[in-house]
Amino acid sequence: MINATPVPILSDNYVWVLSAVGSANAVVVDPGDAGPVSAFLDSSGLECAAVLLTHHHGDHIEGAPEIGETWKCPIYGPIDESIPAVTHPVGENDTVAEAGLTFKVLSVPGHTRGHVAYIGHGHLLCGDTLFAGGCGRIFEGTPSQMFASLSRLAALDPKTLVCCAHEYTVANLEFALQVEPGNAQLVDRLNSARTTRAAGRPTLPSVLKDELATNPFLRCHQPEIIDVASRHAGRRLEPGVEVFAEVRAWKDGW
Ligand SMILES: [Zn+2]
Repeated sequence: MINATPVPILSDNYVWVLSAVGSANAVVVDPGDAGPVSAFLDSSGLECAAVLLTHHHGDHIEGAPEIGETWKCPIYGPIDESIPAVTHPVGENDTVAEAGLTFKVLSVPGHTRGHVAYIGHGHLLCGDTLFAGGCGRIFEGTPSQMFASLSRLAALDPKTLVCCAHEYTVANLEFALQVEPGNAQLVDRLNSARTTRAAGRPTLPSVLKDELATNPFLRCHQPEIIDVASRHAGRRLEPGVEVFAEVRAWKDGW
């Protein structure tokens, strides 16, 4: 059993802090800002044993040097990206064992060229690849790469808890409803996410099973999404990556 807490930083990022129940050692994921993370660690009586980075964007890494210096801890990050703070570059199939926790590294390019995710103890740390109700923008990769990365994540255990790095859930689900208006579970999920946010609580982690049922970027073979995306494109799209690319481009301009 582990504790996983999303610490809010900047405008809408979360830094995930993970620790084995009963342990004073924690792993910190994507600290874009050190201050709130240090405050959380202090108030929780936790020591940082390692930092895990998913990709090179500033809102995910800028607090890492300070945390690494404060705690004299290793900083893991994607082997295919240039991040000066990283002391332990990792890639596909590597294992990270820290703070009594073990994570496997998955290569999930698309948002950035070398983006990695970490999976362990039923928790997926996926940075800006898969979001609750959505997915990251394709900044450096191709739609095919991003679709393949998301498809890998979609094949994980449906009980997996999705610990993504931004609170985008309500806006993502509002868009999802444009793409799949006939999905009753999606309507329920949007209402529930609005209630959660109105109460000031994070909507995360989400459960992969719910993503499979409501996240349009994992549902590019569903007849309604194929139809709606094809109408939007003005031509008949093939299920899968073609539908994905159209919906992703639609969301970029939404
Ligand atoms: Zn990013």
